[in-house]
Amino acid sequence: MRPDQIHAALKLVRREVRHWQEPVVGVVARTSARDPFRILISCLLSLRTKDKTTSEASARLFALAHTPAGLLNLSRRKIERAIYPVGFYRTKAKAIHGICRRLLEVHGGKVPQSIDELIALPGVGRKTANLVVTVGYRKPGICVDIHVHRISNRWGYVKTRTPEETEQALRAQLPKRYWITFNDLLVPYGQNLCQPVSPFCSRCTLIAYCDRVGVTKSR
Ligand code: SF4
Repeated sequence: MRPDQIHAALKLVRREVRHWQEPVVGVVARTSARDPFRILISCLLSLRTKDKTTSEASARLFALAHTPAGLLNLSRRKIERAIYPVGFYRTKAKAIHGICRRLLEVHGGKVPQSIDELIALPGVGRKTANLVVTVGYRKPGICVDIHVHRISNRWGYVKTRTPEETEQALRAQLPKRYWITFNDLLVPYGQNLCQPVSPFCSRCTLIAYCDRVGVTKSR
C-alpha cells in the first residue's frame, strides 16, 4: 500500500466495521462517559481475553466498585471472583490493587494522561497506555495491538517486527487525524475479516490497496 492510499483504505474499513460488534473498550468508554479509570481497568482485563468475557467481567467488577479507592477496598479474592474467567485473573486482580494503590499514592486518585506515567503503573504496557490516552483523554496516540501490527504489515504500509516498532513507524507516517481511531477500526477488521491465520481476502474490499505481505493462505 502506498502511503497516499491510506485515506481510501481507511474509508473502506470504516464502512465495513459498521456491520460488526464494537470492541469492548469502546463500549466501556461510551457507557462510562469516557471514564479513564474504567477504560484502564477494562483494557487490562481484555488482555488475552475474548471481548464477550471482558465485557461481562467489567460489568460485574464495576457493579461492585469503579473508583481506585472503591476497588482497593475490595479483597483480592473478591476481585478475582468478579473477573473470573478472564485470562490470568489472579495476576490481573493483583495488578488492579497495585494500580489503585499507585493512583491514590502518586496521582491523587486520578489516571495520569501521559504514556510514561501510565506505563509506570503495575501491569500496564504501551497498548493499554495508548488506549487510555486516546479513548479516555482523546489525546493523540496510536494503540498498537496484534491486529493493528499484523494488518499494517500485511498492507505493506509498514515493515516492522514488533508492535513497538509498528507504533513508532505509524507515528512517523500515519496522518495524525487517524491516530485515535486507527485501533477502533483495525481491531474489528482483524477479528472479523483480516484474521491471523487465513484472512478472507476474497471478501475484502481493500484488496486493490493491500500488498498481502506474508499471506500464504487465504479464503
Ligand atoms: S486483502 Fe487480505 S490480507 Fe489484505 S487486508 Fe484484506 S483480508 Fe487482509
